Amino acid sequence: MTSSPTSYVQRFLPLRLPRVCLAVTGSDPSELIEKAEGLVRDNPFLEFRLDYLPRPGLALPKIKRFFEMNPHAVVIATCRRANNGGKFRGSVASQLDVLGKAAGAGCQLVDVELQTATKCKPEHLQKLRTRAALILSFHDFHATKKLDVTLEKMRSLPADFFKVVSTATTLYDNVAMMRFLEKESDRHSLVGLCMGEQGIISRVLGVRAGSAFTFAAVSAGEQTAPGQVTAQDLRSVYRIEQVDAATRVYGVAGDPVSHSLSPVIMNTALRRENVNAVYLALHAKTLKDLLACVRDIPIHGLSITMPYKEAILPHLDNTDSHTTKIGACNTVVRAQDGKLYGFNTDTAGVVRPLEQRITLENARILVLGAGGAARAAVFGLKERGCEVFILNRTPVPAQKLARKAKARSVKRADLKKLSFDVIINATPVGMSNTRESPLNENEINARYVFDMIYDPAETRLMKLAQARGVQVIPGIEMFVHQAARQFEIWTGKPAPWDDMLRVVTIALQERAAKTAAKK
Ligand code: NAP
Repeated sequence: MTSSPTSYVQRFLPLRLPRVCLAVTGSDPSELIEKAEGLVRDNPFLEFRLDYLPRPGLALPKIKRFFEMNPHAVVIATCRRANNGGKFRGSVASQLDVLGKAAGAGCQLVDVELQTATKCKPEHLQKLRTRAALILSFHDFHATKKLDVTLEKMRSLPADFFKVVSTATTLYDNVAMMRFLEKESDRHSLVGLCMGEQGIISRVLGVRAGSAFTFAAVSAGEQTAPGQVTAQDLRSVYRIEQVDAATRVYGVAGDPVSHSLSPVIMNTALRRENVNAVYLALHAKTLKDLLACVRDIPIHGLSITMPYKEAILPHLDNTDSHTTKIGACNTVVRAQDGKLYGFNTDTAGVVRPLEQRITLENARILVLGAGGAARAAVFGLKERGCEVFILNRTPVPAQKLARKAKARSVKRADLKKLSFDVIINATPVGMSNTRESPLNENEINARYVFDMIYDPAETRLMKLAQARGVQVIPGIEMFVHQAARQFEIWTGKPAPWDDMLRVVTIALQERAAKTAAKK
């Protein structure tokens, strides 16, 4: 920390700052302060984005009153200039004037961008520092590069915190940011994180790498930076307040991955079973990037989703024979020696819900599809003594799979003559679409229909089946069972199944409500 003997920070900083600072915006001073009033009880550390106000100076009397009413609040005043990624269009002098007055009104910290700081005289910055702790900030909206060089530039200026924010274009950029924080945070008070969807690792783990605090959004839709997570998610999903050196890191890796419900279900399970671990959505644009992160963060376990379930196999040190047969892996464990082991829990996702309902030995089961999920179902069901039939849009993969698994491939035209105990849909037909079904009503000759699709919660196929008096098994059961099995593999503990099902059901209902509201 580069503080002068007279600086404000020496008096102020013995108080440890909370880990999460909420960025608050408003279209006018009343809205800004009303929002802050609503937040401050649970979130004593706020950032007032004065640059979002058309005339920031008008907010000062309200800020003063805010501190009279909330003396425990800790507030950063930020009035970022438009050139540097903010919205303030005034001069450097008027920016400093606003920040000085905000400090006078009670804000204990002020944020000045490096670009502004280099334009003003050091004595102006020092003057500001007699009233508030100064955060010297730098934002790179394109990349994560030359973090050391940026810090070196910043060090020539008087400041109490150096805030270095970059943009993650790869997962590995988070490693660069966290190495930077680990290396420099003993010598300086740093705030560091990567923006963008791929920056989630640094937003959650940056504080344990040495970032003095991190930023969060008030709500989805009120982000002041790309990829900013809401305070609610940082605290309740990612449990940022508990993240420490011993916290294990897990994640779901895929491309895309933003829609995944795995973080919600897995973080719930980890919290419920008191496992010191966090589970993140890892948007991996390449496998190479993902594997480099697994080694260097290090990541203890991964859920693998599209498009890497098959491509990851050659990169693993070992897989169980079942996973090798299926040729797809959805679960990776990183052992203590750093070796990567692959498993397929989609099988458990299919077999467990069926076992709860029927005797699998000799059960006649039709699997629609011959992709990764179908293969997991076919091999798993064959191992349990089922008679398995496969129908696929393209006949050749179905025939190949049938040969390998000692199952039978069937033609669609034959369906009307055949009957089954269970029909499993392992195709994406009906996903996010309530009008499409892989089968017509008169082709559903079975006691049960099990649709792997879980969004929507009730598919067209399920509706057609119910209309024929056929019982249905929703895809959400598969989703929860495959996740539960992953949890068991990673932690050795039984999974809290009911809680996992509850949170996914709620998340799906919320998603459906949002989609309906948009229509
Ligand atoms: P995949 O490897 O891409 O295989 C897709 C299969 O569906 C292929 O056999 C493909 O046939 C067939 N298919 C694709 N589009 C079709 C269409 N328009 N009409 C008829 N058949 C079509 O995918 P996957 O990983 O196996 O996943 C399949 C489904 O299972 C997805 O909806 C996925 O979300 C779901 N799933 C759910 C869970 C869960 O936890 N509930 C877990 C895993 C998967 P072709 O060979 O002719 O291309």
